[in-house]
Amino acid sequence: MKEFQTIKKTHKDLLDRRISVLELCDLYIERIKDKDGEISAFLEVFDDVKDRASEAQKCIDEGKATVLTGIPIAVKDNILIKDRKVSAASALLKDFIAPYDSTVAEKLKKEKVVFLGRTNMDEFAMGASTEKSAFAVTRNPNDHTRVPGGSSGGSAAAVSAGLAPVALGSDTGGSVRQPASFCGCVGLKPTYGSVSRFGLIAMGSSLDQIGPLTKNVSDSEVVFDLLSGKDPLDSTTYEKSVFGEDKGAGHTTIGVPWHLIEQDGVDKDVLENFKNNVSKLEKEGYKIREIELPHLKYTLSAYYVLVQAEISSNMARFDGIRYGTKVEGKDLLEEYMKTRSLFGKEVKRRIMAGNYVLSAGYYDTYYNKAYTVRRFAISDFEKVFTDAKKKVDAVAFPTSPVPAFKIGERNEDPVQMYMADVFTVPANIAGIPAISIPAGNVEREGRKLPVGFQLMAPWKREDTLFSIGRSFEK
Ligand code: GLN
Repeated sequence: MKEFQTIKKTHKDLLDRRISVLELCDLYIERIKDKDGEISAFLEVFDDVKDRASEAQKCIDEGKATVLTGIPIAVKDNILIKDRKVSAASALLKDFIAPYDSTVAEKLKKEKVVFLGRTNMDEFAMGASTEKSAFAVTRNPNDHTRVPGGSSGGSAAAVSAGLAPVALGSDTGGSVRQPASFCGCVGLKPTYGSVSRFGLIAMGSSLDQIGPLTKNVSDSEVVFDLLSGKDPLDSTTYEKSVFGEDKGAGHTTIGVPWHLIEQDGVDKDVLENFKNNVSKLEKEGYKIREIELPHLKYTLSAYYVLVQAEISSNMARFDGIRYGTKVEGKDLLEEYMKTRSLFGKEVKRRIMAGNYVLSAGYYDTYYNKAYTVRRFAISDFEKVFTDAKKKVDAVAFPTSPVPAFKIGERNEDPVQMYMADVFTVPANIAGIPAISIPAGNVEREGRKLPVGFQLMAPWKREDTLFSIGRSFEK
């Protein structure tokens, strides 16, 4: 094996003894040693990689391997792996040890994957640049002066720099897809309820989903296939979908909401790249149809009301008594205040905004109004996905309105940072699946920066994303 191509190919190489699990893992550990000093994709590289690799090898030798056995995987630092640190990149959870396995970790352990380490992220997944981590700023492997996107920036950077073949992230408003787009990898946000959230440190519970960051669509499919399914520990999950036959390009229609995409604020090179890619799909045989999603222009504002509300309630448990590093004070109030001051600025901002929109006097003005927008956005999608005459099988968007921005450029301006999510948030608001696929580059200061092409599909139709994604990749 010269370079990792796909999980399935590597699986075959492992079975045919062209490479051992130990050699495979060593390759990544060496690269991490070599390159991660500069990129800071990892918060921790596990010291038991060799032991786990031997276990996986034994499983292969005994003829019990599955497709994921021995595959090295990096994990975002908000997903619990029993007895290992999990900090959500927050000073408050700096030395917190996971008391149990998340459902996704448990599933991966059963397959005997090898966990490489914990990847950096924005604190509690609040951000779009991985600059809000309490511990490090991750750099974009394509240009070290730029951000990798966020909040799963460490996972995206690790995959893009070849420090891990696969990584897990979480996506509440775009945190898997946007960094995938900035770094040049495939990022999947599954249908809400398809992958268990048990053991994921919650941000916005009605929006959060765990998803894979991979080098290609085929690997995304393999990981999704393992992770999805009903889990008694997360009541929002549903039985694994059984997908029918691939309809193929000639029988698939892709809707494009041009009224939302051709707008000020969308970088002109990104727009041109998007248009070229839509044309390419058309040449492949896909029918392209202009669609209207009239309420989607309000979803970014609605998201930033709803997510703050959910954040303010989810963050309440980090008080040093139930969870988090306790800072001693002269009485309970002081203790509580000192502990909570360990939160970074962005987390504090969101707790305050969330409490405000939920407060008695403003509940109707903000929270209820945002919820109404959510309902309308869902019915916008329902219409285009089910219309008797004009239905589409998928909707296309750029993943991000801009390519990777410079470190520091947006860090002090929350609204500018929030704008980066304009095209990703609608899928979380509606609960539908979405994928970002590498779609070429735009040039900045003589450097090629990756750009992602995003597809959204009806609820539980990840198969449509994989099918279009595969032909897009070609
Ligand atoms: N950038 C978005 C936010 O800050 C999304 C974060 C996420 O998906 N976790 O809320």
